[in-house]
Amino acid sequence: MSSSGMPKIPAPLTNIKIQHTKIFINNEWHNSVSGKKFPVLNPATEEKICEVEEGDKADVDKAVKAAREAFQIGSQWRTMDASQRGQLLFKLADLLERDILLLATLESMNGGKLFPVAYMRDLPATIKILRYCAGWADKIHGQTIPADGDFFTYTRREPIGVCGQIIPWNFPLLMLASKIGPALCCGNTVVIKPAEQTPLTALHVASLIKEAGFPPGVVNIVPGYGPTAGAAISSHMDVDKVAFTGSTEVGKLIQEAAGKSNLKRVTLELGGKSPCIVFADADLDSAVEFAHVGVFHHQGQCCVAASRLFVEESIYDEFVRRSVERTKKYVLGNPLTPGVNQGPQIDKEQHDKIINLIESGKKEGAKLECGGGPWGNKGYFIQPTVFSNVTDEMRIAKEEIFGPVQQIMKFKSLDEVIKRANNTFYGLAAGVFTKDLDKAVTVSAALQAGTVWVNCYLAGSAHCPFGGFKMSGNGRELGECGIYEYTEVKTVTVKISKKNS
Ligand code: ADP
Repeated sequence: MSSSGMPKIPAPLTNIKIQHTKIFINNEWHNSVSGKKFPVLNPATEEKICEVEEGDKADVDKAVKAAREAFQIGSQWRTMDASQRGQLLFKLADLLERDILLLATLESMNGGKLFPVAYMRDLPATIKILRYCAGWADKIHGQTIPADGDFFTYTRREPIGVCGQIIPWNFPLLMLASKIGPALCCGNTVVIKPAEQTPLTALHVASLIKEAGFPPGVVNIVPGYGPTAGAAISSHMDVDKVAFTGSTEVGKLIQEAAGKSNLKRVTLELGGKSPCIVFADADLDSAVEFAHVGVFHHQGQCCVAASRLFVEESIYDEFVRRSVERTKKYVLGNPLTPGVNQGPQIDKEQHDKIINLIESGKKEGAKLECGGGPWGNKGYFIQPTVFSNVTDEMRIAKEEIFGPVQQIMKFKSLDEVIKRANNTFYGLAAGVFTKDLDKAVTVSAALQAGTVWVNCYLAGSAHCPFGGFKMSGNGRELGECGIYEYTEVKTVTVKISKKNS
């Protein structure tokens, strides 16, 4: 502990030797069938960290075969006690905790995430998710049903089978745990593809899966690109479910591929353009801070980013002034360096897309309060940017930016702001700031969003279901509902001979 009582953050590791760069199938490391590899970059320096084996359809086929084999009736995994499945997940969580420094360093180096955030936030949350799921393993059960007639009817919650999972680059470890944890505690097997930008922590976790003692084939990790390895998973005839987190655009392709192949079950966690509503009676300091962090956390690369900020007219000017003052405090630089509090965007493509949207904001007449362009001459950095006088039809008010860019709009009445907040294809998250309980409850009920935060933003834990309304997704992840997304319900009815009682 430091003198302030906060846990002390250690220094990140230096001179890491990358150990795992291959495809993980059946608890073994494989080269790609094609012989191809792809480069993995550090977004802060644009330097190559290493090359990783590039999985494609043939590798996905191998992984699915291994996962199917591990799922056969009578296999070690299928006959394992549910409580033992839980123990394996607890063990995996312990191993992540043991390797927290290495994993946080890798997450920062490969994903551009601030090292203290990786160490203090992402890693502990990842470990908690695994433990939450571990606890569920022996608590998943069916019901007995008073069916009509002389029958004994009960339901079983069975695992679905081979689960294909495709994850993005913004929270590589959190996403990995949110996918494999629920799948494994229910007894499924998994083929997971990390994002092409950030495969390194997933591959280290692969080695821990083997060390924890999961039977071969239960978890298979295939790094590779989306249109090749990802599409091979979503269109595979022997994958029973696909779970995806990423853009709405790709989510549609996944659902289409699932429909065109074997109608595999689909859960999707997609994009957002989340409204954050601040009423004049809110605690101003707190609302400014939450609204700020709500959009700037991890360089704005969060699906729940509070990227449409509606502020009531009477406090608008003061709110903008304070938000700009807060935003000007950033120190940009390498996320592994102490004191830096804004890192790079993940890659050049995202960087250029954000710059393009910032330019559109300027052209369409929003007022640029600060920032507004790239930063530095190496790495994919963007100046933290605030726009005021934003109106609903501007591109920056409609499109997901996924960058450090805040849009501040003005509103006059409660009915007006509810309508405007819901006027989007998305429905992932929302925030409401007010001291008036009636207002908070009324607005929370009216907002079309899977998560509503009242007087806070970005609070979340493994216990809470997470997902989107409308084009922000299908199904829920984590919480009780999220666990059940990895089960099939079977109804069993047994005829009973009438007895004279
Ligand atoms: P982003 O735009 O934030 O990079 P994407 O939705 O493109 O998000 O990517 C999220 C994940 O989806 C990544 O693992 C990526 O490789 C994968 N992916 C991209 N395109 C496809 C596709 N056509 N089919 C399946 N997966 C894909």
